[in-house]
Amino acid sequence: MEYYDQHMHTFFSPDSTEKFENYLKQTDNYVVTTEHLDYYTNYPQSSDVILYYASYSNHIDELNRSYNNRLLKGIEVGYTKTDRQAILDYLSDKSFDIILLSIHQNGNHGFMTLNHDTKPIAEHLEQYFSIMLEGVKFATFANVLAHFDFGLRGYDPVHVEDLIPFESVLKEIFTVMIENNQAFELNTRSMYRYHDVHLYDYAIEVYQSVGGKLFTVSSDAHVAADYRLEFDAAFELLRKHEVKQLVVYQKQQPIMVNLP
Ligand SMILES: [Zn+2]
Ligand SMILES: [Zn+2]
Repeated sequence: MEYYDQHMHTFFSPDSTEKFENYLKQTDNYVVTTEHLDYYTNYPQSSDVILYYASYSNHIDELNRSYNNRLLKGIEVGYTKTDRQAILDYLSDKSFDIILLSIHQNGNHGFMTLNHDTKPIAEHLEQYFSIMLEGVKFATFANVLAHFDFGLRGYDPVHVEDLIPFESVLKEIFTVMIENNQAFELNTRSMYRYHDVHLYDYAIEVYQSVGGKLFTVSSDAHVAADYRLEFDAAFELLRKHEVKQLVVYQKQQPIMVNLP
């Protein structure tokens, strides 16, 4: 099997209008979309983003008849402490091929798209990574930690030196992920649109230093034009770190495939 993109959105996510067909057209390989699930219990200005599973699932089943069963099902779960039970309840009766875990907000505001507060970066990172640690400990159901740098996208530029004081918490996060068999995502949108390649270069090394071996490369496309965004550059970065394989998930089981 060849590696395929594992983080994409369609009109089943509120921030995308893309159709499955436009992704399917670009490849003969599997296509998996990872639609948003974000609860905003502590942030009533935003309404909850709930994936309508029955309609998502029916739509995919229907397309699969014409597209040789190439469509898989995925979800991107936004973690908040308050909504832990709601997340578990939502997932309890649904099946996905891949579940991404994301830290999009701190329960009061989003880390990128909502009103950003203006804390000093160190204070912000302290809070962001502690929520991430809490999130990975909770989300044993997840297969992948998505865009570890999401909370840094709003602080441009962030330097590796800003992350070094948090290396021990990063190691703790990565160790929990390894125990949970969760992959570290190279989010090419973060790397090449938000200019965070250097932070990934650093984080890959930290992840490997505690024994991390599972990597995904994903575009986080919200439009089909971003499908496999800058994958060659990301593959090159992984080769530099002597990574030889990537992981894909089907029915939430890891399958190792060679790095192209
Ligand atoms: Zn996300
Ligand atoms: Zn996403």
